[in-house]
Amino acid sequence: MGVGTVKRRDIPALDGFRLVAAVLVVAIHTGPLASVSPGADFWLTRVLARLAVPFFFMVTGHFLAQKDWQGTGRLWRRTALVYLVAVLLYLPLNLYNGGFSPVEWLQKLLMDGTFYHLWYFPAVLVGLPLAWGLSRLGKGPGLAVAALLYLVGLGGDSYYGLVSALPGLDVFYDGLFTLFAYTRNGLFLAPLFFLLGAWAPSWGGKFSLAGLVLSLAAMSVEGLGLHAMGVQRHDSMYIFLPLCMVFLFSLLQGKNRGRWTWGRDGALLVYLLHPWCIVLVRGAAKVVGLEKFFIQNSLGHFFAVLLSTGILAALCLALKPQKADPTARAWREVDGSALCHNAQTIQARLGPECRLMAVVKVDGYGHGAVWVARTLGRQGVRHFAVACLAEGIVLRRAGVRGTILILGYTPAAEAPLLARWRLTQTVVDLGHAKALSAQGRRLRVHLGVDTGMHRLGLDWEDAAALLEVFALPRLRVEGMFSHLCLADDLSPHGRKVTQGQTQRFFQAVEGVRAAGRDTGLVHLHASYGVLNGSVSGCDLARIGISLYGVQSESGPVERPMDLWPVLSLRARLALVRTLEPGEGAGYGLAFHSQRPTRLGVVAIGYADGLPRDWGKRGGHVLLRGQRVPVVGRLCMDQLFVDVTAVPAAQAGDGVTLIGRDGTEEISWEEVADQWETISNEVLTKLSHRLPIVEK
Ligand SMILES: *Cc1c(COP(=O)(O)O)cnc(C)c1O
Repeated sequence: MGVGTVKRRDIPALDGFRLVAAVLVVAIHTGPLASVSPGADFWLTRVLARLAVPFFFMVTGHFLAQKDWQGTGRLWRRTALVYLVAVLLYLPLNLYNGGFSPVEWLQKLLMDGTFYHLWYFPAVLVGLPLAWGLSRLGKGPGLAVAALLYLVGLGGDSYYGLVSALPGLDVFYDGLFTLFAYTRNGLFLAPLFFLLGAWAPSWGGKFSLAGLVLSLAAMSVEGLGLHAMGVQRHDSMYIFLPLCMVFLFSLLQGKNRGRWTWGRDGALLVYLLHPWCIVLVRGAAKVVGLEKFFIQNSLGHFFAVLLSTGILAALCLALKPQKADPTARAWREVDGSALCHNAQTIQARLGPECRLMAVVKVDGYGHGAVWVARTLGRQGVRHFAVACLAEGIVLRRAGVRGTILILGYTPAAEAPLLARWRLTQTVVDLGHAKALSAQGRRLRVHLGVDTGMHRLGLDWEDAAALLEVFALPRLRVEGMFSHLCLADDLSPHGRKVTQGQTQRFFQAVEGVRAAGRDTGLVHLHASYGVLNGSVSGCDLARIGISLYGVQSESGPVERPMDLWPVLSLRARLALVRTLEPGEGAGYGLAFHSQRPTRLGVVAIGYADGLPRDWGKRGGHVLLRGQRVPVVGRLCMDQLFVDVTAVPAAQAGDGVTLIGRDGTEEISWEEVADQWETISNEVLTKLSHRLPIVEK
């Protein structure tokens, strides 16, 4: 994994080729070779350059699929916004050209684009949801449907002259063309390329290159032939185009490492701005009387447009506010695949009768509650638990669905918010239940039962009170639960207490059922209940710490599970200096060098959630795969490490405070033991200032 070096010099091919594709689009709209050779110009702009837009669709599909289509909604909204801006940007030219009728406006806005190049945006807005839907069908059926749509599109594009000669098809296509002007749109063109980007195979470089050359040759023959036959209604779609794209994409993927976001923004800007530049170049050429060089001469025209677009795009990029690199100082790195693995492992242990309720309180134990809930939601997890109302609202606002149970107290006066966000509230005692019921809202609740911990919940023995809650108007009791206080204690005493609590809980449950009430979902165990016992009789298990792949303490458990830590805590080495023997460092000069010491300063401190005396407690960090000791006293934003044993250490190196680096690991349990607490506290005390970065 080695966080020691972060490569930034790579120019990943996929993002870089976006710029090439944008230049090809400029070529389509300027015809660089038109005054040299019309045939060559046709090949360049109507055959070769047709790789450009499908390429944009493919990279989009590729990156979305890498995240299991998670960002689809966000990308859709962003595209809609960019489209809106672009529509406004070209409104003056629309109006100058005479505008459209209201029906035309609608048609252009929804399908064709309001300016000739803007069709790309409605194509994404229509094609993306379609591709997402098809992706749910699975690879084979999804691609088959998309290919079928593409074929229909072909019939209205390059093959129109041949296809419309067939009986019935002319009527079909005439019908289509009353709805939109071309078939190269979000319905027929985009879905196939989104899905090919998502599922494209990746071959070796030589094979891909040969495939690209051959398929491009085939497409050239196809395009030039159809052009010569005069059957093209439009010239965006060819039979060989998808094949070319798959080879091209495979070739680029082989060279792609990381991301080069500059290429993305640059390509988008070139795409957006170049038609304006065409207008400006023409206008300027006329004003200064240089039509001969910049209008009649197609190459001059092309380069003038390209140059002015490039300058404009570079200006826009320079004005764009820069975002801080989240890994510049100290950060939390989270691993989605570990989280999914843990959820599956835990669910397998719970068995088919009992579902995992993911406890995501305290911002998902420091992992980012929204990220955790979304990731697990995609895995089919439908039950979540938080500590308080505000945490529940954060999840709902982020679009998390399913049950969200608030484990803690919420004042009854907040009932409107509980109802508004469909949150399930824990009833902490009878008075609370009555107050909630009196608010005049229909509320979902789970009934807390106190079986000996004496924290929240109604007394397990008070059957009358328990039943009274079920009888209260407007409260829908959808569950009943208790909490164990010695589930982690394997001593005879601990086991006896747990057994007693379990018996009391099920006695209370049976009492309610005997009175003819439906308890709803019954749950008792948290992580240690599952690690040390059985969940039989329960519908849910409320799992927090195990989900994050960590044990609360390093001690043994009865039935361990193979769980992987999800969060790593990392920071940067700010500098390395050499201290002579006898010199001190830090507040109170708490560190004294005994020998010539290479002292490293790491950009993380007690304000990030680490204890001030971690050095004294035996703290270590990993640097270039090696363990080095924390020395001296922690500052608010820095700490000291002795890096004498790592001569290669240098400023900018990644430092792992908790997690893995190479073969070395510092575990949460180890750190919790040093701090004389449990991992839960270490995790939940990490500062919110630490950005969360997905691995
Ligand atoms: C926090 C909490 C849990 C989760 O506990 P873990 O030990 O982290 O699994 C479960 N139930 C209740 C009531 C809690 O407050």
